Amino acid sequence: MKNPSIGVDLGGSHVTAAVVDESGTIVDRFEQDIVKHDFDDVVKIVAKVVEEAVGSVKGRVEVIGVGSPGGIDAATGVVHYSPNFSWYDVPLGARLSERLGRPVIVANDASCATLGEHTYGIGRGTRDFVLLTLGTGIGSGIVAGGELLLGHAGGAGELGHHQIRATDGFACTCGKIGCFEAQASGTGLIRHALTLAPSFPRSELVSGKPANLGSKSIGKAAQNGDAHALAAWTRYVTDLAIGITNLIGFVNPELIALGGGVAAGAGDFLISALVPRVDELTRMIPRGGTRIEAAALGNDAGAIGASIVARQGGLVVVKA
Ligand SMILES: [Zn+2]
Repeated sequence: MKNPSIGVDLGGSHVTAAVVDESGTIVDRFEQDIVKHDFDDVVKIVAKVVEEAVGSVKGRVEVIGVGSPGGIDAATGVVHYSPNFSWYDVPLGARLSERLGRPVIVANDASCATLGEHTYGIGRGTRDFVLLTLGTGIGSGIVAGGELLLGHAGGAGELGHHQIRATDGFACTCGKIGCFEAQASGTGLIRHALTLAPSFPRSELVSGKPANLGSKSIGKAAQNGDAHALAAWTRYVTDLAIGITNLIGFVNPELIALGGGVAAGAGDFLISALVPRVDELTRMIPRGGTRIEAAALGNDAGAIGASIVARQGGLVVVKA
């Protein structure tokens, strides 16, 4: 294999170190569950899977790219805040670099996933592109004019916490009310279903334990015509459309890709309901000018993007 690169996707409960070739294909992967969230324990586990990955390509890898959740200073590799791990200001890049004996570049996981989809996935060939990952929360990133948008302090593209229902929405994990993420993530879909439950006393959707209620099962029930699931789905699609319309107004992308559990589970059922709602809400910008499609790389987008970060020496290529 020519020029292998290693990208690490660090999640709250799992870490993957992927060996990625020059065409963006994962040729080998090393994984481990993360049980303890203590910083030293996580560093140890990440270093172990990276060492396995490096060993598999016989030391031809110089730089490691790591995608991690949270607010990250990509220049120093310091994780300022990570809700998944309850970390504040931990030197993840420096500590990993020390253990591994080679440079480690740490970047936000959603930025990595956006870079992955833009370079090798559904966004390939576009200059203005947005990735939204609809999972427990909403991960997002923006490519504008062909480059990942970082903003003044690296915080650009954090679309999940713009408020779309500031007075009547759900409480968000960030402390605000009615954030896009609170309303339109997979968790948001579950909350719409639970809110509507009293209106559907015979619904089988919440007849089991509420903990068993998942966004995929609600999407599936809606596709099967279940009245309760359809009512929740309609509210969900409306809220998703409001947020997407806002971001079309902010960045006028050519393509918005939807990833994460909700999009993967519902596919065309989601997109065919969403597109007319977005068109209806779009003002001042030509309707239908932005394509909305399913993301292509699934859960691999983050690791593939992190391998690009390693290959190009950072989230963006610095031009001389
Ligand atoms: Zn929020």
